[in-house]
Amino acid sequence: MRAEIIAVGTELLTPSRLDTNSLFITRRFNESGIRVMRKFVVGDRGEEIRRTLGTALHDSEVVILTGGLGPTHDDITREVVAEALGLQLELDPTLVSGLKARFQRAGFKITENNFRQAMVPEGAEPIENPNGSAPGLFLREGKALLFLLPGPPRELEPMMDQVMELVGKHKQITQAFQRRLKVASQAESVVDSAIGPIYTSYPQIETTILSSPGIIELFLYWVGEADQGLAESQLEELQSRLVEKLGESLFTDQEESLEEVVGGILRKSGKSVATAESCTGGLMGKILTDVPGSSDYFRGGVVCYSNNLKVDLVGVDREVLERFGAVSESVARQMACGIRERTGADFGLSVTGIAGPEGGSPEKPVGLVFIGFSDDQETKVRKERFPGTREAIRMRACRHALDWLRRALLKSPNWLTS
Ligand code: AMP
Ligand code: MG
Repeated sequence: MRAEIIAVGTELLTPSRLDTNSLFITRRFNESGIRVMRKFVVGDRGEEIRRTLGTALHDSEVVILTGGLGPTHDDITREVVAEALGLQLELDPTLVSGLKARFQRAGFKITENNFRQAMVPEGAEPIENPNGSAPGLFLREGKALLFLLPGPPRELEPMMDQVMELVGKHKQITQAFQRRLKVASQAESVVDSAIGPIYTSYPQIETTILSSPGIIELFLYWVGEADQGLAESQLEELQSRLVEKLGESLFTDQEESLEEVVGGILRKSGKSVATAESCTGGLMGKILTDVPGSSDYFRGGVVCYSNNLKVDLVGVDREVLERFGAVSESVARQMACGIRERTGADFGLSVTGIAGPEGGSPEKPVGLVFIGFSDDQETKVRKERFPGTREAIRMRACRHALDWLRRALLKSPNWLTS
C-alpha cells in the first residue's frame, strides 16, 4: 500500500528545525507493510498545502498531514483541507466540552481562538490527542484515507496507534514484511562485497545498507506481491544466509544498540567493565551509560587526556609514555590493564589515538587509534586506522572497543576480513 506524508510548518523550511514526524510515521507504516513513497515539507501557506494535498490524494491510498492544527493564526491546515475538499467546518460539541474541561483542569482561561480546534470538516472523525488540545482528524476522500495530525512529536507519536487502527479498519494491511540486521566494526564495502552476491539473488526483497560510524544496518524489505507465506519464507531464507555469512560480526536482528547488546551479555554473565579513555574524551562511558541500568555492569571510567593523568590515574609508566608517545600500543596496553586493576572490573577497555583534524604525522596519522582490551588472562591491543571526521573517528573507536568486548564475551573473536 502506497502512502505519502506532508509535513506542514514554515519553521520546517528553515535551517533550525527538521521534520522528524515523518520518520516516526514511516517506521510505524513499514511495520505494517505500508510504504511511504514520497514526502513533502511545505510552509504554512494555503496554496502550497492545497497543491501538495491534491497530488498526494491523487497518487496514494494513505495521506498524512502533520502540523498546523494549533490555535494560532499561522495554523491553517484544518481550514485549507476543508476548503480544498469542499467540506463545511462544523463546531463539534463533544470537542468543545473536552477543550473546556482541559483548560479548566490546567487552570487556564480558554480564549476564542482555541475553539478553532473543535472545528471538524463534515464527515470527518476526530482522533483523540491525549497530550494536547488539538485533536487529529480522519477523512475519506475517494480511495484515499486522509489523516491530519498535530505537529508536536509528543502529541503525534501516541496518536499513531489510533491511525494504524483506522487504516486497518478500511484497508487490508499486512504485517511486518521486513527484517533488520546490525553489524559492528566492519567497513561498508567489506560487508557489501561479502553479502551482495546473496541478497541480489532475491529480487522481491529490497535490501538497503545504512552505515553510521562503526555500525552497519541492513534492512530487508519485501516488495513483492502481498503473499504472506511467500514473503515470510523468502525473508527467512535470505536472513539465515546473511546471518551465516556475517558470522559474529552480526550483533543483533532486533532494534537494539550495540551498547544494549554488550550490556545485556555483561549483566547475564555477571561481569563488569571499566574504561580508560584518551582521544574519545569519555564518549565510551557516555555510550555505555546511555543504557538505563548500566550501573549493574559499568564500574566507571577515567578520561586521562593528559600524560600526567595517564600516569597518576591509570598507572601508565612515564618512561613508556616518553619512549613511545601517548598514542602507542604500549600505552593502550597499560591503560586497559591499569583501569581494570584499579577498579577491580572484570574487563578493562582503553582508547588512545589521533582524532584530528590536526595533530597527525607521517608515523602517526589522523585516524590512528590503539584500542586496548584487558581481562584476568591477558591484555591485548588492536591498532586501527579509522576514516572520517573527528566525530566519526571517536565514535568508531568506541564502538570497536565495545564490539571487541562483545566478541570476547561470546568467546568468538572471528573478524570478517576484506
Ligand atoms: P504545529 O502543530 O504546526 O503548531 O506545530 C507545533 C510544533 O511542533 C512546531 O513548532 C514544531 O516544533 C513541532 N513540529 C511541527 N511539525 C513537525 C515535524 N514534522 N517534525 C518535528 N516537529 C514538528
Ligand atoms: Mg505550525
